[in-house]
Amino acid sequence: MKPIDRLWFDPTEIFIAGNWRPASPTLPIEDPSTGFEIGQLGRGGPAEIDEAVEAASAARQGDWGKLTAAERGRVLAQIGKKVLERADDLALIEATDVGKPLKQAKADAIALARYMEFYAGAADKVMGETIPYLDGYTVYTLREPHGVTGHIVPWNYPMQIVGRSVGAALAMGNACVLKPAEEASLTALAFARIAQEAGLPPGALNVVCGLGEEAGAALSSHPGVHHLSFTGSVAVGRLIQSAAATNVVPVTLELGGKSPQLVFADADLDAALPFLINAGIQNAGQTCSASSRILVERTRYDEVVSRMAERYTDLRVGPALADLDIGPLISAGQKRIVETFLAMAPPGAVAARGRIIDDAPSGGHYVAPVLLAGPGPEHPLSRDEIFGPAQIVIPFEDEDEAVAIANGTDYGLVASVWSESGARQMRMARRLRAGQVFINNYGAGGGVELPFGGVGKSGHGREKGFEALYGFSTLKTVAARHG
Ligand code: NAD
Repeated sequence: MKPIDRLWFDPTEIFIAGNWRPASPTLPIEDPSTGFEIGQLGRGGPAEIDEAVEAASAARQGDWGKLTAAERGRVLAQIGKKVLERADDLALIEATDVGKPLKQAKADAIALARYMEFYAGAADKVMGETIPYLDGYTVYTLREPHGVTGHIVPWNYPMQIVGRSVGAALAMGNACVLKPAEEASLTALAFARIAQEAGLPPGALNVVCGLGEEAGAALSSHPGVHHLSFTGSVAVGRLIQSAAATNVVPVTLELGGKSPQLVFADADLDAALPFLINAGIQNAGQTCSASSRILVERTRYDEVVSRMAERYTDLRVGPALADLDIGPLISAGQKRIVETFLAMAPPGAVAARGRIIDDAPSGGHYVAPVLLAGPGPEHPLSRDEIFGPAQIVIPFEDEDEAVAIANGTDYGLVASVWSESGARQMRMARRLRAGQVFINNYGAGGGVELPFGGVGKSGHGREKGFEALYGFSTLKTVAARHG
């Protein structure tokens, strides 16, 4: 049976107020591993977004809004349990829709379940405080939901990003309107169906698939939306922030990155190597927190380049279901962008290249991973987000230069420090401009518990972890004068 035949929902339908109904016209669904069209996706627009916002607003006033925090947590726990039961199916769908190797897709499905579990447990643990004030007053704070939250997500990690943003929003009692990416919407629909089966009241989650400039723009500018959560490119992030400014609503922007790993001469290179490479090539480099820059203290630069090159030569690229190191890129357009970047490499800069397997389908969007040693820190390859399987190794002389290069791009999402010196680890953690700093690791397994977000053009606001619950709620101060 083909993965698309295993769907337990109709992808031409959208989900509003607990009802599934067709949206037309439709958009083609492509399998990036083959380039073949495998189905059709409903294309909602402004009218469907209007209805979804109305349904979410009604849910806030209705059954969903009346649940206690503990009851919301119980629903989320039930969703998490059902996601876990369907993890293999979800992984197969995601691998086919996004092109990611099956085991990476499975890890994403498990992460989606973890988000539900984490926010299930957190839902009834968000508390206000009492504030000492004037004689005769009692002052306290209440954490309340924004109301209707809009969620616009990208195609690279659909399950994880839906999990972190919708999970936290629901835990706080918001009602959500989700606009998945047109390139990869299937698991968002699958998730909605699972949530419905798990007992999520109608309208608490609404999913409208469609194009960014249609459904996405309608959602971000809708006056009935009280908070926007956007994950995607800087260019679209600007549009979302402008729309939020017009309606004067808060917005969380999770944008791109050019995240560095700093390898000092005293680093344990055996421990570092798998992280140095995996952080760059995972999901074919289409990861906001991809580590596309490896900065190495000059005395060990040649050694790092040659050891990374050795591993790169072994990397294999092929269809998602072949479950190799790397799958295809999401689309022909993304492949063109990456190839245009790679064509900018100075002569002799390619230190190693992986290999596309011989029987990879000719219509798939494959790019062999490339390790580059040569472009300096100011080269566009070292400054701009490539969003493909390429890493640049850059030498530095000392801590000051390492920090200057690391902090020298417009982005600031993630950074890591490889060193055996505790004092240096602490210094670097403070000096690096990033939303997350890892010491002698990278990504810490993606932990749902760890607040995540950027500075600079990587965006603002935090998702994941307990911190996200503050973002998805608003604080009310109550001052009672009782004498
Ligand atoms: P994108 O900005 O093109 O699209 C993201 C979403 O925005 C999609 O759902 C799309 O339909 C929608 N959209 C597009 N135009 C819109 C408009 N005018 N109004 C409203 N919505 C619109 O990004 P992408 O190509 O899907 O994803 C790649 C980018 O996302 C990269 O820059 C990557 O770094 C970033 N990203 C960031 C994170 C993070 O957590 N920081 C995670 C994943 C991806």
